[in-house]
Amino acid sequence: MKFNPADKIQDLQYFGEFGGVNPSISDSSTYTFISAKTMFDTFEGNADGCYLYSRHSTPSNLYLGEALAAMEGTETANVSASGMGAITPVLMQLCGAGDHIVSSRTIYGGTYAFLKNFTPRFNVETTFVDITKLDVVEAAITKNTKVLYCEAVSNPLLEVADIAGLSALAKKHNLQLVVDNTFSPLSISPAKLGADIVCHSLTKFINGSSDTVGGVVCGSQELINDLRNVNDGASMLLGSTMDSLRAASILKNMRTLHIRMKQHSFNAAFLAEKFEKDGLKTVYPGLESHPSHHLFKKMMNPEYGFGGMLTIDVGSLDKANELMELMQHKNLGYLAVSLGFYKTLFSAPGSSTSSEIPEDEQKEMGLSDGLIRFSIGLDNDIERTYHMMKSCMQEVGVL
Ligand SMILES: *Cc1c(COP(=O)(O)O)cnc(C)c1O
Repeated sequence: MKFNPADKIQDLQYFGEFGGVNPSISDSSTYTFISAKTMFDTFEGNADGCYLYSRHSTPSNLYLGEALAAMEGTETANVSASGMGAITPVLMQLCGAGDHIVSSRTIYGGTYAFLKNFTPRFNVETTFVDITKLDVVEAAITKNTKVLYCEAVSNPLLEVADIAGLSALAKKHNLQLVVDNTFSPLSISPAKLGADIVCHSLTKFINGSSDTVGGVVCGSQELINDLRNVNDGASMLLGSTMDSLRAASILKNMRTLHIRMKQHSFNAAFLAEKFEKDGLKTVYPGLESHPSHHLFKKMMNPEYGFGGMLTIDVGSLDKANELMELMQHKNLGYLAVSLGFYKTLFSAPGSSTSSEIPEDEQKEMGLSDGLIRFSIGLDNDIERTYHMMKSCMQEVGVL
């Protein structure tokens, strides 16, 4: 039977301490022991089922990690306080001084800044490439390369990575393929296509209520053990631990992720088709005109659609700002960064979430001033929303 990520989440059953239908929240930072010997063994990581201190692990964090590992089809997972708190320790764990990373050039601004400005301080260098060209990716690999890094669907340009193709390159050159799947949960299952490690910002679709930040690394037991090692584990020692109360609330929100993703995708596909027909420069992986439409189709778990993210280009930052302000005024969405909310969110990435990327590099990768990134919400009647958006576009003169 074909791997279905939502079924894997659904099959997990947890009960609370008193038979509660949700698991109990472990509201403690530290745990008592009857025997001093067990405390020592737990510290060393040899006492399964025992807890010592909540930066190391908590029952609530383990439940959430298990659900995310099930969703991605990896052995296990480690949750963290933010998406960056998941991505940065993984890269620090896999690379030491002298090592090299080949990364997509269209990635989340924070990840880009980390690789461009921060890791060079530890003598870890990154070559940024057009990830859609496998020959260019391979040519960038050196004898020091340890990691291939990309986003399944990139932020904000919605480029699609050929994960199976990249995985074959990674195997050939003995690299770890790390994929950020924040934009395409359920729709794409990178580990099933050959990725070694899958990261998410849980802040976005997976939590879906814009009330918290969170992150996860999904991978092999060996990798997660390494990250959590008390002596040299980057997640353990850099300390970006998720709080148990948050882990419990994110797990509850995950129970509706499949329903939300279907609606996000349905609404985004509807708007993308209409916008394109109206003559707007529209980018959405579900459109035939998207350069990687067929690749996405080949990789996807079809029932979850092409995701909730789309972009339009309205020509200039002034027009983009005018349109976004008007749409917010008409209550069609919020002028805000982030994504995956019930409400549509829009922003101009060039001057916000991707502003870490220098202007000339933005131009080179096709990130223009007038680009608006939409995270399409869960609107009940998307046709009504479309007509209201269209009249805003006519009012500011982009249609
Ligand atoms: C938001 C985001 C991140 C960073 O996650 P935080 O939770 O904000 O730390 C990383 N990658 C992508 C693709 C994102 O959208």
